[in-house]
Amino acid sequence: MIQFDRKYPHGFIVLALVTAVFGCSSTSSSKGGEVNGVASDKLVVPPGAELWNDNQLGTGVTVNVCFAVRPRLEIDGVNVNCPNETDSTKDCFGTPMTFNGSPATATLRSIVQQLETDNWRNNADITFNWQGDCPIDAGTNMHRNADLAHTIVIQFQHSDNVPANIACTNSNATATCVNQYAGAYCNIASGATSGTCAAGAIDWTGIVGKSNGIPTVIQFNWPPVVQRVDVFNVIHEFGHALGFDHEWNRSDYFDPAARAWQDSHGNCTSDADCTVDGAPGGTCSFSPSTFGLCVCDGENTVQEGIQLTLSDPTSIMNYCHAANPAQLSAQDKQGLVVAYGKVKSFALSTSPTSRAGTDTGGGVFLSYTLTSTLKFGSAETVALSTLGLPSNAHATFNPPTMSSNGGTTTLTVTARAGAAGAVPFTVNAAGVFSTGSDSGTMSTVYPRNVCLHPPCLCQPGFVYCSGSCIPQGFDCPALDPRITVGFSQ
Ligand SMILES: [Zn+2]
Repeated sequence: MIQFDRKYPHGFIVLALVTAVFGCSSTSSSKGGEVNGVASDKLVVPPGAELWNDNQLGTGVTVNVCFAVRPRLEIDGVNVNCPNETDSTKDCFGTPMTFNGSPATATLRSIVQQLETDNWRNNADITFNWQGDCPIDAGTNMHRNADLAHTIVIQFQHSDNVPANIACTNSNATATCVNQYAGAYCNIASGATSGTCAAGAIDWTGIVGKSNGIPTVIQFNWPPVVQRVDVFNVIHEFGHALGFDHEWNRSDYFDPAARAWQDSHGNCTSDADCTVDGAPGGTCSFSPSTFGLCVCDGENTVQEGIQLTLSDPTSIMNYCHAANPAQLSAQDKQGLVVAYGKVKSFALSTSPTSRAGTDTGGGVFLSYTLTSTLKFGSAETVALSTLGLPSNAHATFNPPTMSSNGGTTTLTVTARAGAAGAVPFTVNAAGVFSTGSDSGTMSTVYPRNVCLHPPCLCQPGFVYCSGSCIPQGFDCPALDPRITVGFSQ
C-alpha cells in the first residue's frame, strides 16, 4: 500500500491520513500505478511485505538508493511520473529546487543521506549504497521502473493546491491528478469507480519494503526538508521503505492517548466525540477490538504480519495521537536488529595478529590487549568470545566485558595441544544492538617431533625422547612429563 504521511513545516501532524487499502477503507487512491498489488507493509512488518533480506530475519543487507532526476516510466510502459523533471536541479514538477536563492539539490541529498545513515544504517546491519542519480534509460531519457526493482528511489516534490471537482478514475489518475498537482491523488469512495483529485499527503512511500518488480519510491516534500523542519518524516518514510508499517496498525497496538480518553470520558459514540476539546482526535471505532475508542486511520484493523517488538507508542513509525521525537525509539532499535541483524558498529584494535606462542611448559600461552573503538551507534557493554580456536585451547578475557566505546580488555589464550602451525581465530564482541569483531592468527610453535597425542611414531630402532626420536639404547635424560612416549607403528 502507499503510505501517505503529511507533516506541515511547523510540525503539526494531520491524522486524517489517506490509505490505499484495496476494498477495505473509505477511500481508495491511485498513485500512478505504483500500487501493483504488492501492497504490504510491518517494527511491525505487515502481511505480505518483504524485508530487503527476503524476510530472513537477522540477516544484513545492502540496499541501493538513488535520486530521480528524470521522468519515471512505469512498468506498463505508458504512464509517466514527473514528466517535467528534466535534470537533477528540478523537482517532480520541473520546479527548480532552491534554498536562500541557491541550488538545493546537493543539500537535500546530504540531509536525507545523513538522517537515514544516523538512524537506520547505524542501528542495524544495513548498508545503503547511495548511487546518486538513478540510472537513465538512453532510449527514453527516463528512469524505467522495470530497471529499478529492489531499489529505493527518492523523488522530490512540493505541494500544490488542488482545484475542486476535477473528475478522475484510477486509470487516468496519473495524468489527471498526480502529474498535475503536486502530492495530489484520485480520491475514490469505497465502491465507486470515479472520484475527484484531492490534495494528498506530500510525503509518501509507494510500497512497504522491497519488490522485485518495481522500485520502492519515496516522495519527499523538499521545501521543509531543506529547511530541516521535516526530520521526523524523512526518517519515517525510510522506515516504510525498509518494510515497517504504522505502529498503530498492528493487531496488538495499545493507544495510550485514546485509552486514557476512553477511561475518563467513556466510549465515543460518534466521530464528533473524538474532536471535542481535549479529545485525542481521529474517528470513533465500532470494531470489536477498539470499540468506543477514538482511533487513527487503520487502527481498528487487525494486521498481524511480523511483530518485531511489543506495541510501541514511541516508535518512529507512530504518530497516532503522539508527537514523537525524530529518532528511532529504543524499541525501534531492538526491532530493527531483529529484522536486519546487529550493526557492526565498532572495531577491536590492537588486533590479535599473527604471533608465535611460547611454550612455557604449561602450554602455548598468548596474551593480547584488545581495545574497542566505537564507529557509530550507541555505546553499550559488550560480551566477548572467541571463534576458531582449537577445542582444547582456552581463552579468557580480563575484564570479561568492555564498552563498545573505548573499552579495554586482555585476551589470554592457552593452548595445550594440537598441531603446530597457524591457527586463525576471531574475537567477537556482541552487544544488544551492535557487534564488533577482529580476526587474527595464532601461530603455535612446538618443538619438532613433539608427540602430544599418543601413539607417537618413531621409526623401528628409535624411541621417543624429549621431542625427538633417538636410537634405542641411548640415554634419555629429560622426558617431558606431559608426553606419553611414543612407540613404533
Ligand atoms: Zn507513514
